[in-house]
Amino acid sequence: MKIAGFQKLTLLDYPSKVACILFTQGCNFKCPYCQNSGLIGHENEVLIPEEEIFEYLKKRKGVLDGVVVSGGEPTVQKDLAIFIKKVKEMGFLVKLDTNGSNPDLLKKLIDEKLVDYIAMDIKNILTLYKEVAGVSPSVNKLEESINLIKNSGIDHEFRTTIIKNIHDINKIKKICEYVDGDTFFLQNFEQSENVCDKKLESFSTEELIKINKIIKKEFPNVTVRRI
Ligand code: SF4
Repeated sequence: MKIAGFQKLTLLDYPSKVACILFTQGCNFKCPYCQNSGLIGHENEVLIPEEEIFEYLKKRKGVLDGVVVSGGEPTVQKDLAIFIKKVKEMGFLVKLDTNGSNPDLLKKLIDEKLVDYIAMDIKNILTLYKEVAGVSPSVNKLEESINLIKNSGIDHEFRTTIIKNIHDINKIKKICEYVDGDTFFLQNFEQSENVCDKKLESFSTEELIKINKIIKKEFPNVTVRRI
């Protein structure tokens, strides 16, 4: 598997777990707000050998609870299931971060009990992905992934990075409808040196409080982060 980044410890990326996180190389989306834009393209970049990760994990048995597989988009990796299986055989929990574009692979991972937690990004109204993901993925596939995850019986969350220039309150409400009643986080966009589009803006604290108030009335399951 193509691994372009590895963080030995994270207390933030796997809810209630102590984990490490690895970032796979490449993505099938081109989000202008991507915080990991360095992982997209750059096929000649030096990658981290899988053996290095397994060596580290061997030494961390009993210390780490799990491994977060993030990206890039992990499901574009052809050998993702094989890699995860090895991690599971070592006794670690696995959390997968995904953009939901590959429901077939998600189904395989769920059916074979290879994932313990899935976090899926819902980037926009499903028919309007182009304006935020730079591509127009199959709406059917995105819906399939949402339904698979909702009904998987495993821990999961959905989340949307909300961007002031793109997501108005009506769009946000519409996105919330896709996962009504399920765990859903709205997280404020943050501009940074890794973000390609420097014109994108985050919501102010006051605006987030307002959004939170409106959304909570209709969707009490939704949590607005970074207020
Ligand atoms: S799907 Fe994720 S990794 Fe891929 S471009 Fe978008 S934000 Fe970046």
